[in-house]
Amino acid sequence: MLEKIVIANRGEIALRILRACREMGIKTVAVHSTADNNLKHVLLADETVCIGPPQSSESYLNMPAIISAAEVTDATGIHPGYGFLSENADFAERCETSGFTFIGPKADSIRLMGDKVSAIRAMKAAGVPCVPGSDGPLGDDPDENMRLAREIGYPIIIKASGGGGGRGMRVVHTEASLTSAITVTKAEARAAFSNDVVYMEKFLEKPRHVEFQVLADTHGNAIHLGERDCSMQRRHQKVIEEAPAPGISEEQRKRIGERCVNACLEIGYRSAGTFEFLYQDDEFYFIEMNTRLQVEHPVTEMITGIDIVREQLRIASGEEMMIRQEDVKIQGHAIECRINAEDPKTFMPSPGLVTLWHSPGGPGIRMESHVYSGYKVPPYYDSMIGKLIAHGENRDAAFARMRNALSEIVIEGIKTNVPLHQEIFQHAAFKAGGTDIHYLEKRLGLT
Ligand code: ADP
Repeated sequence: MLEKIVIANRGEIALRILRACREMGIKTVAVHSTADNNLKHVLLADETVCIGPPQSSESYLNMPAIISAAEVTDATGIHPGYGFLSENADFAERCETSGFTFIGPKADSIRLMGDKVSAIRAMKAAGVPCVPGSDGPLGDDPDENMRLAREIGYPIIIKASGGGGGRGMRVVHTEASLTSAITVTKAEARAAFSNDVVYMEKFLEKPRHVEFQVLADTHGNAIHLGERDCSMQRRHQKVIEEAPAPGISEEQRKRIGERCVNACLEIGYRSAGTFEFLYQDDEFYFIEMNTRLQVEHPVTEMITGIDIVREQLRIASGEEMMIRQEDVKIQGHAIECRINAEDPKTFMPSPGLVTLWHSPGGPGIRMESHVYSGYKVPPYYDSMIGKLIAHGENRDAAFARMRNALSEIVIEGIKTNVPLHQEIFQHAAFKAGGTDIHYLEKRLGLT
């Protein structure tokens, strides 16, 4: 088992990883910026190393500083969490060439999945259903591109192969605007991602976002932990996630889950990963794979009883997974609200001193947050300050617990989106389940 690891992240996820390590007897090194001396996990870690000033580029994205911290503390592994360097293949490679275990997939897998054209090719080869599209990069011949688009059928979407974070995409409704849309997306992709490869896909108008969680070890075992529905989004950012996804049958779960497992085995994937799909008219369409731990992993943990971070640590230690696919049983329903330090109406970030923090509790309630009364939310990072998770024997029970928890939570001194969550939990369409990815923005009058 890994003896000591560097937690190369901050906030709630750093605390989540620290907790798993403490349970398993793994020593922890918290690396942090000068703005983060008072983070909860920094206070709890066995050792701490300040790696730079507040700006992420100088601290949490500073590869040499993080690797030096691992060297000076004699750590053997590095957990990247999510965001920051978690999907940076060069970082994964540098960790390994410096002699540290990267607690995640191999650099090659990150690279393969980080490029959308190569990811889609690999998924198709493994039998994972993809969105009908160009099957590769678009060339410069406008007539050929028009022929392709006509064959796929409008509307289509032009996507940058190197794109991410919802950037580098353009929807095209008519042939008249196709050629210019390709030219503009290519130019943007070149500027933003230093890679002007673009491809074409059918644009699905009312999809849901349904994703599958996988785990794979280095002994040739891979399993899936079912799916999550993350359709409640604003600006491509997930706001509420739940598992299982409403209306997905056991047969669909098994069929798509098996394809994901097969894909993991084909590409030699290891660690935790997520296959993201758009789901429309009972069909799944792969869009991308996230080669890391996800923010929303707790909903899957709540319904399966499997600790995903613990499994990541065991897999990174070279151990064989003990859980077999037939051991994975889905129990009840779980839902997660992302708590952000922001104005619930304007969505403007609201950093500052938290004068009072009271976490909700009771059966089936889990709060993942690093915040405490007297903690100052710094202005430099993502506004998410916690996640509230409710589990119940079925969806209604989970909802009832979440409503209670949202009414109990007290956060004073800063603004948060708790009132927005309280409002959403009154929506009849959301209560019914199965809303598409545009529902929330439409309902909030944002489109
Ligand atoms: P990124 O890596 O930037 O997150 P994705 O490929 O995951 O890019 O797409 C981000 C979002 O863009 C999706 O969640 C969905 O809302 C929208 N999108 C992407 N492809 C399509 C498509 N073919 N049809 C409809 N919407 C799409």
